[in-house]
Amino acid sequence: MTVRVGIPRGLLYYYYGPLWTDFFESLGAEVIISEETNKKIVEMGVKSTVDEACLPVKIYHGHVKNLMDQKVDYIFLPRLMSIYKNEYICPKFCGLPEMVNHSIRNLPTMIQPTIDFRKSKKDLPRIVEEVGGYFTSDRRKTEWAFNKALERYRQYKTALRQGVLPTDALARKNDEGFHTMGSGDKIALLGHPYNLYDDFISMNLVKKLRGYGLQVLTPESMDVKTMNEKAAVMDKKMFWSFGRKILGTAFHAMEQQDIQGIIYLSSFGCGLDSVLADIVERRVRRNSDKPFTLLTLDEHTGEAGMDTRIEAFVDMIKWRRNHENNFSAYGQHIHSHQSIVR
Ligand code: SF4
Repeated sequence: MTVRVGIPRGLLYYYYGPLWTDFFESLGAEVIISEETNKKIVEMGVKSTVDEACLPVKIYHGHVKNLMDQKVDYIFLPRLMSIYKNEYICPKFCGLPEMVNHSIRNLPTMIQPTIDFRKSKKDLPRIVEEVGGYFTSDRRKTEWAFNKALERYRQYKTALRQGVLPTDALARKNDEGFHTMGSGDKIALLGHPYNLYDDFISMNLVKKLRGYGLQVLTPESMDVKTMNEKAAVMDKKMFWSFGRKILGTAFHAMEQQDIQGIIYLSSFGCGLDSVLADIVERRVRRNSDKPFTLLTLDEHTGEAGMDTRIEAFVDMIKWRRNHENNFSAYGQHIHSHQSIVR
């Protein structure tokens, strides 16, 4: 009988989902991804977690419950400590397995390897072997399956850098032609991937912005080298990996003539966002004249209020664009008039 392994469609699913999915499938397992975030999943998550948890962690619990409803044999829930050298992930990720194990009863077998690349990635083969061991005792098969998954994962990351939304890339619409960065005025959209790309949490923010004819630059579509160089201007190294990506993108966006404004999408109860959004807002206001708006989400945020804020932001960009055009047309008019007088 085929083993069914569940992957919650939350938190870093938008980063690593395709890697683990391909890996498990190559090992012969059936992979069940929890349903797209919906009202029921949010409600189940909120009921299962402590009030103090941030919105994405609450929702993650809802995804675990959704997988249990689908009667999976295993749930894959790694303990992510660090994914880059000398950097950390938010502490909530480190304690996520304990939170879930203690908040939800009658869990199926949990696959919970510890991933800690703070010093180096030399532990990766051991982690792969540990996880693969749930499906096969053949180490060579495990290694082959992981390398195959890695190859496809690299294509996925390349697609994201080109502006493809993870939701599109994960739906594997490769042959249909992706909707990439869009066209028209460009704006930067900052935030954690699980806020930006989960259509329910973000209330389709990226799609709405593109619907207004805007190109949307996110940390995942940034050139990595540029992003790291820009983030390095901080006096002290930003040791949260997603913080580095967000700051690097913000500082780059601030300096670009063709980027018309910056939006930060944050979740209520996020300690990191409260620090990062504050740094970004101060720098943007001090060093640039670009419109900046902070949108904070919680489980009670209404879509109408969000839409109004987005509309106001887009209006501001258009207003500035028109005034810039009028101003430069006026400048040209004066210039040509002066030429005639001379
Ligand atoms: S970074 Fe913020 S939103 Fe993400 S898990 Fe940590 S506290 Fe929650």
